[in-house]
Formats: sequence, C-alpha cells, structure tokens
Amino acid sequence: AAITAGGFGTIAEVWGDVMRAAGATERLMELLHAEPQIAPPAAPQILPASRQARLDFERVDFRYPSRPQHAALDGLTLSIREGETVALVGPSGAGKTTVFQLLQRFYDVGGGSIRFNGVDLRELDPRALRAQIGLVPQEPVVFSADARENIRYGRRDASDADVLAAARTALADEFIARLPQGYETFVGERGTRLSGGQRQRIAIARAILKNPPLLLLDEATSALDAESEALVQRGLEAAMQGRTTLVIAHRLATVQRADRIVVLEDGRIVEIGTPAELARSGGLYARLASLQLVG
Ligand code: ADP
Ligand code: MG
Repeated sequence: AAITAGGFGTIAEVWGDVMRAAGATERLMELLHAEPQIAPPAAPQILPASRQARLDFERVDFRYPSRPQHAALDGLTLSIREGETVALVGPSGAGKTTVFQLLQRFYDVGGGSIRFNGVDLRELDPRALRAQIGLVPQEPVVFSADARENIRYGRRDASDADVLAAARTALADEFIARLPQGYETFVGERGTRLSGGQRQRIAIARAILKNPPLLLLDEATSALDAESEALVQRGLEAAMQGRTTLVIAHRLATVQRADRIVVLEDGRIVEIGTPAELARSGGLYARLASLQLVG
C-alpha cells in the first residue's frame, strides 16, 4: 500500500518533521549526559598527513556506559573511501550521532575497531584525531566575538586573507560585508543576532578554513528560508569538495547527491548503496524518495 502525503504537506516536509523530532531527543540526551573523558594513549601514533580520509569500521559494537543493556551500535561494518560522500539516514535512535561520537573518540568502541587511514582510533591522541576532523553541527555555536574571529576559530593561526577566502567559499562573505561593521561586527550573545542560515555558513567557513581530510556534517533540521537554504547547500557542497564527508542527512536533496547512502536502524545497517540502487530496492529510502517525486 502506498503511503500518501495528503494532508501532511510534501513528503520532504514529513521527512523533515521526523528528523526534527530526532534532533530534539539528541539535544536532551546531550544535556543529560556529560561528555566523557578518554585518556590519550601513553605512546600515541602520529597520523600521517593526508588530504583525504579513509575510514574502516569493522564489526563495531557500542553501548553507552549509562545504558549497558542497550546496543547503540551492533556489529557495524562499513568502509568509506578517500573523497567519498556518505549520507547516514535512519529513524531517531538508529545510531547516527553515535557514529559521529565514536569517530571523534568521545567514546571507545566496545568491540571491533574503527580505523582512520589505517590507524586504530584507540592508538591516537583524541586531540590529534579531532584536528583531522571538521565538524559542522546541527546548531552551530557563535561566540561573543566579531565575525572574523568567529571564523578564525577554525584555524587559530589563519591570516585575515585566509579567513576572507573561507568566508567567500562558504558564501558567508556577502552577509558579513553587509553587517554594520563588516568583519569587525560583534556577533553572538552580546552582538548582532545571526539567523540560523548565517550561523551555519559561519560554521561552514570554519570547516573550510580548517581544511580537514574528514568532514562531519550534522544537517540542520530547523527550517531555513528558501534563500538561506540554497546558500547553505551551496556552501556545504564547496566544503565537501575533495574531502571525505560523512553527513547525517535530514534533507532528501542531500541524500540524493551522496555517493552512497547508509540506512541505519537499531544500530545496524539495513540498507546501503548508491541513491539509484536504493531507489530500486523498494526499502524505506525508496518509498520516501519516490513519494517526493509524486508529490
Ligand atoms: P540517532 O542519532 O540515529 O538518533 P543516537 O546515535 O543518538 O541515534 O542513539 C543511538 C541509541 O543510543 C539510542 O537508543 C539512544 O537512545 C542511545 N543513546 C544516545 N546517546 C546516549 C547517551 N549519551 N547515553 C545513553 N544512551 C544514549
Ligand atoms: Mg542523532
């Protein structure tokens, strides 16, 4: 039986609602659980410098310490090759955010392994690992500082020219130039309030400035106006150029542009393939995608 979107708006909107609900749960979880501490190894491995990252998850099991009876990830095996863009999708609680947490080594796997360019994450100093990762969070934080310093946060030793170039690539330059004092305008809590789309473009500019081999994007679930939406999309595409990207995708447009889609459910991969393959397979993804074409 077909699922109709009648009365609920387009299927893309329904998808967005589902994903927004997932985001709300996640923020609540973050408030309830303080960030754990992972000690660096006594003799950490040095990650060889690289333009792009290769990731290998091998039979990864993971349970949160506060909930040992529940497997958040259950035998996850996945390799992501250099330069690939992989979209993670799936219902709330599927394990998408957990994948990001483990990749940044906020927790260690319970079983199996994750390797970054061949090196087991447990052999790396978490700070050295995080230096290789650009994160664009769902709701980026803007500091009480001027626009330039907010972007420079991506790489502290960046020159003003580098900051400007990153802002241009992220399509943040135009709105910053229009602020009362341009790049010197105080933004954030005690300054000019930025819109959701503007905050996201600041975060994208930071990631571009950092120039990491691995980009983790947690797509915003909050609705942006159409113009912001298009600018953020284009900024993200620029940021993804030439690097490995893992995106927790909430928008069908993003999913459809990925090289591969991984559908997670209950900590397991239930579907994996290119957008075209999954569209043919008749699973959850296929149903959502085809409905969007209809209505
Ligand atoms: P998703 O991002 O796909 O919505 P998560 O990775 O956040 O899913 O969650 C996977 C599972 O782990 C869920 O069952 C969730 O309730 C649980 N979980 C997530 N974060 C924590 C946490 N900090 N402590 C305990 N359980 C958690
Ligand atoms: Mg999540």
